[in-house]
Amino acid sequence: MSEEEKKELANLLFPNIIATREEIEQRYPKRKLDDGAKVTRFAPSPTGFMHIGNLESAFLDYIFATQSKGQFYIRLEDTDQERYVEGAVDLIKETLSNYGIMPSEGAFSSGQYGPYIQSMRKEIYQVYIKDLLLKGLAYPCFMSKEELQEIREGQELRKEAIGVYGYYAVDRDLSLDEVKKHLDHGDHYVIRIKSPGDINKQVILHDLIKGDITLPENIIDEVIMKKDGLPTYHFAHVIDDYLMHTTVVIRGDEWVPSYPKHLQLCQLLGFKTPKYAHYAPLTKKENGNIRKLSKRKDPEFSVSYYDEAGIPVEAVKLFLSTIINTNFEEWYLQNSDKSYIDFPFSFKKMPTGGTLFDTEKLNNICRTYFSRLTAEQIYEDSLIYYKKYDEEFYQLMLSNREKLVSFLDIERNGKRPRKDIATYQDIKQESSYLFSELFDQKKIVDSNLDLDVLEKYLQLYSGDDTQDEWYQKIQELASNNGYATSVKEYKNSPSDYKGHIGTICEELRYVITGRRQTPNLYDILKILGKEEIQKRIEFQK
Ligand code: GLU
Repeated sequence: MSEEEKKELANLLFPNIIATREEIEQRYPKRKLDDGAKVTRFAPSPTGFMHIGNLESAFLDYIFATQSKGQFYIRLEDTDQERYVEGAVDLIKETLSNYGIMPSEGAFSSGQYGPYIQSMRKEIYQVYIKDLLLKGLAYPCFMSKEELQEIREGQELRKEAIGVYGYYAVDRDLSLDEVKKHLDHGDHYVIRIKSPGDINKQVILHDLIKGDITLPENIIDEVIMKKDGLPTYHFAHVIDDYLMHTTVVIRGDEWVPSYPKHLQLCQLLGFKTPKYAHYAPLTKKENGNIRKLSKRKDPEFSVSYYDEAGIPVEAVKLFLSTIINTNFEEWYLQNSDKSYIDFPFSFKKMPTGGTLFDTEKLNNICRTYFSRLTAEQIYEDSLIYYKKYDEEFYQLMLSNREKLVSFLDIERNGKRPRKDIATYQDIKQESSYLFSELFDQKKIVDSNLDLDVLEKYLQLYSGDDTQDEWYQKIQELASNNGYATSVKEYKNSPSDYKGHIGTICEELRYVITGRRQTPNLYDILKILGKEEIQKRIEFQK
């Protein structure tokens, strides 16, 4: 086509697009940021599901932008109208704000580089598409679904590259008259690029996480605009990242094979490419094989799982930090007053292959997280959880604030704070015996109990005793009733004793709480009070 014909074609297809690229670009001036500041974006498609990989992606965007004093923004990639799900946008918004990683710029706030919802940017994309038509770098393609299917089948059979390219790109060189005929006929069309790619050439992706990756050059005449006039993901995100001045695209490594396409689009459009950081997926071991986490098989794949399970958002972020940089966990354990944002994250230390989802690690980091909170903080945070998920316990919490806070405070402030709580659910689980509503005495069965000693203990007990006084009383009880006052004494001649002081404590603990293990018994007894202790011991008679 001559220059004149290209112009006619562009105007024929986009009569209402008047603006030029230059005009659009003036609306998106360079950001005023220091050297090295990263501009990142979270660009979800509203599909109605937020998985842990999406959260990781947003978290990475947040971390790297914040730590470099850059900017993080949100862009909604909703050009695939068929995949649109009602409520999906709210879910994304809610998740990001719950997790405290809502950026100040983007689809849910404001900013100078919007609109941040792709379906609202149709005209902008069309300006660039029209420009490519004017330059002869794109063309309308009228091929039907059936024709494309037929080509595909043939290519599969001959083991050729799949797609519209070279010989198969039959509409690439249509004359203006032929295009007009199609249009007169009302034929639907898409717009494709004229790929200059060479099947024998390769491109290199300099990935910030994975290092250099060699990939075949793109040869496909990719669709950049669909029949509905909206751009494809590939085209739209390239335009947006350019105009919004993204410096690093952080995304899942399922996009690595698309890189040659994106590179070529940037080249055709005359854009400098951003940097790329493709992170590996979370995986699981199943029957000796490694597979990606799946929506169907793994509840922990969904972000909602953590909320329901009572795993605090901060703990999930700490867990993500352990996945992102393997040296994080050790640092976190050594720095009890710090959180993830103080850790020097680096792309270079990110795993390049799949990362195993380690439930044990999640559990441990949760325990450490809780061990660093005050009792009041745990109480307040878990109240929110129980209000949402367990009305009965929520009410108990409200009417027993002091009791619960005292319980949570046991062994909390020393050098080695207790680590029995990993989730909000554990709070009910671990403290249930404090509440007569939840404590089932009938379940306490042990034929070896020395009830005589326990009853004698009742007479000695005073809520005013210090821990030392309390212990002395049990020692007395032991020696007056045929028990050794220390384990050592007992081990020296076991046949002389019924047991040792620990045996008494264990029985007491069991009768009072139904557990073999609890935080410090002295404190538990104090919280329960003499009357309740008496009731529980006497119940065994
Ligand atoms: N909308 C794409 C997705 O949801 C984003 C990929 C990207 O970050 O470039 O997978």
